[in-house]
Amino acid sequence: MEKMAANSETNSDSEDQDKEYVGFATLPNQVHRKSVKKGFDFTLMVAGESGLGKSTLVNSLFLTDLYKDRKLLNAEERITQTVEITKHTVDIEEKGVKLKLTIVDTPGFGDAVNNTECWKSVADYIDQQFEQYFRDESGLNRKNIQDNRVHCCLYFISPFGHGLRPLDVEFMKALHEKVNIVPILAKADTLTPNEVKKKKFKIREEIEQYGIKIYQFPDCDSDEDEDFKQQDQELKDSIPFAVIGSNTVVEAKGKRVRGRLYPWGIVEVENSAHCDFVKLRNMLVRTHMQDLKDVTRETHYENYRAHCIQSMTRMVVKERNRNKLTRESGTDFPIPVIPGANDTETEKLIREKDEEVQRPHLECEPEHTYGLKQDEHSSLELHSALGPDPDPETS
Ligand code: GDP
Repeated sequence: MEKMAANSETNSDSEDQDKEYVGFATLPNQVHRKSVKKGFDFTLMVAGESGLGKSTLVNSLFLTDLYKDRKLLNAEERITQTVEITKHTVDIEEKGVKLKLTIVDTPGFGDAVNNTECWKSVADYIDQQFEQYFRDESGLNRKNIQDNRVHCCLYFISPFGHGLRPLDVEFMKALHEKVNIVPILAKADTLTPNEVKKKKFKIREEIEQYGIKIYQFPDCDSDEDEDFKQQDQELKDSIPFAVIGSNTVVEAKGKRVRGRLYPWGIVEVENSAHCDFVKLRNMLVRTHMQDLKDVTRETHYENYRAHCIQSMTRMVVKERNRNKLTRESGTDFPIPVIPGANDTETEKLIREKDEEVQRPHLECEPEHTYGLKQDEHSSLELHSALGPDPDPETS
């Protein structure tokens, strides 16, 4: 038996040697070199009420000081404050690989006395980035498009409540179809390990109960090794990530570490026995950054694009019907016509759009408006928007 196995191995070896080497095995290297040269970008949004440690965590995650110029408001100013959206960008380089990291913060979220619909400006911001991208890729110059789409939103949940608050549910439900939401249990050092466990369980249960669709880690392939599968399962079970942030370095057991010094001891940010900080950072940076970008492009942006095209279609049909009616009734009022589109061209456009909208991945609820105003649609270059969509990122 052993001899036979050895024989067949030698045979396949010699077959391999006989095959002529064409060279396409270097393709991954070519892709690698090209992407390293181009650099990477990633846009991360942080949301949640102020004081939950968002800025501290972002600084701890990327070892930067992104909030140097932040102005903290007093209680009186916060009463009337509306939700603002601020953007900070840093270029980070590690072993020759460049990453342009953009952090979108939402100061003022949940701070007012009346927080009804305070998620709206966050949703509008995400839509505006989609809209800009849609316009850019529909325009003439599709090279060097600045992609500001939000790839991930870390949503901070207070450790002091009993699970989710109504505002948390409202926010996540309003945004879950626009962005990858990763829930975070903030300031985990204020809870005992048992409390962390219970809170995580309760939050997961409520997420399920309210039908909130948070970011789903992709299933691992069946041929992955057991260690990898276990790590993957642990990652899924960690949701919401219980984190601790700190921008100070303290001395623990003779080592200098990022941590928080209390009279009764030290909590270490990067110690997995203390919190999920390392898991979160590994997920964001080492293992799932590309997947977060892929889901943004293939699911959230595609949905947005489909809604836009649907509304444009409806508008063109309405316009055409109105034109017809006017001609028949002989009214004197001039009805706006889409520039350069005569009847046959319009027919063709509608047909193309109908086909596009009917593709399976573009099935969407028609009642959403997604921030594009009607008069804005007509100024878009309709025709180029409807061509086959070679996403500049993937082409
Ligand atoms: P933000 O308003 O959400 O950006 O919150 P900040 O990052 O400014 O943090 C608010 C306060 O909470 C600061 O005094 C931080 O030092 C503190 N803080 C930040 N992260 C943690 C944490 O993980 N645990 C504890 N106990 N305090 C934290």
